[in-house]
Amino acid sequence: SLKITDECINCDVCEPVCPNQAIYQGEEIYEIDPGLCTECVGHFDKPQCQTVCPVACIPLDPAHAETQEQLLAKYRRLTAAE
Ligand code: SF4
Ligand code: SF4
Repeated sequence: SLKITDECINCDVCEPVCPNQAIYQGEEIYEIDPGLCTECVGHFDKPQCQTVCPVACIPLDPAHAETQEQLLAKYRRLTAAE
């Protein structure tokens, strides 16, 4: 999963580009649900939120490090549930 740091300026451009609806407005800044973020694996070749964020505040979350296989499995779980 990726995560949003406190450099977020609440511009709201990342939320609509997430294919997994993993991004939401938190109490102070936008946040990413690690259970829903596949780092865009299965949908796009690059994390879409990272490409649109104007302040580059969406790094990998070291607390939720995942392999490509794990991300793909998450993508399959999420799309199977649709
Ligand atoms: Fe959503 Fe992709 Fe960003 Fe994860 S990396 S929060 S799936 S847009
Ligand atoms: Fe925050 Fe970046 Fe998302 Fe804008 S695009 S809301 S600055 S994380």
